Amino acid sequence: SVDNVYELIGKNEVLPWYKPREKFSHKGTYGHSLIIGGSYGKIGAVILASDACLNTGSGLVTAYIPTCGYIPMQTALPEAMVITDTNEKMVSDIQFDITPTVIGLGIGIGQDNITTGALKEFLRTNKTPLVIDADALNIISKNKEFLKMIPAQSVLTPHPKELERLIGSWQDDFEKLDKAKAFSKQYDLILVIKGAHTITLYNGKGYINTTGNPGMATAGSGDVLTGMITGLIAQGYDSLRATVFAIYLHGRSGDLAVEQCGYQALTASEIIDFIGDAFLDLF
Ligand code: AMP
Ligand code: MG
Repeated sequence: SVDNVYELIGKNEVLPWYKPREKFSHKGTYGHSLIIGGSYGKIGAVILASDACLNTGSGLVTAYIPTCGYIPMQTALPEAMVITDTNEKMVSDIQFDITPTVIGLGIGIGQDNITTGALKEFLRTNKTPLVIDADALNIISKNKEFLKMIPAQSVLTPHPKELERLIGSWQDDFEKLDKAKAFSKQYDLILVIKGAHTITLYNGKGYINTTGNPGMATAGSGDVLTGMITGLIAQGYDSLRATVFAIYLHGRSGDLAVEQCGYQALTASEIIDFIGDAFLDLF
């Protein structure tokens, strides 16, 4: 059994997983990521995640957002395609005519009843692997029956408060890890516990990240991670490796960025700016 096995994740662990770009490849080779999220005042989260997803190598990225996000999205990120919901201010009915490789779900999406209904209807029929974050996690925590509707080996990326809503409170870190592992096994999901040393749990094993710094405790940092995990899954990395690898690269990007701008000034956009350097730094 792999229970209670923890592995520290640094460059040596992720490097063997790296998939080089093939000369005769094309954008279709590297997958199509769909980022579903956003609401009035929180379109930036989708811009950040989509940008991070592209910078991590996803061949195509489409954002599914409420109508109010159309112009900011297309202006800030011309590389991304956009599908708009019928609702002006929130996701109300998730309908699209593309076949994405993977879907990043929940950033900036809010917790309106209308959005909760849309999420339930979407989960009822969806079979595409998911990376679920932010308010989609909070909606699921309030509607635990949604958990059974998530495709196996999808990824959940809660920060500590989101984790508590999902699995309940804990007395100490041992209990937290035990509860989180049991949850991951029960639903066959990859569960990420975000923090200073982010831990990924799957099948009873824990992967402890060694990169990153407190400059990354800043708005949008998690949205960037969601886009990066989605981008690696799009490229054919299995969802566990994609998750552990993306967490490593996200932290490394933050470490390289902080050398340029310092801890206080570090923003999520600057984490994105250093994703390329984090890849180059692998070799
Ligand atoms: P979120 O709260 O969803 O924006 O996610 C925050 C992101 O920043 C996660 O990927 C965390 O692992 C990372 N992060 C937050 N605080 C720290 C810290 N003190 N050291 C390293 N990474 C951090
Ligand atoms: Mg977040």
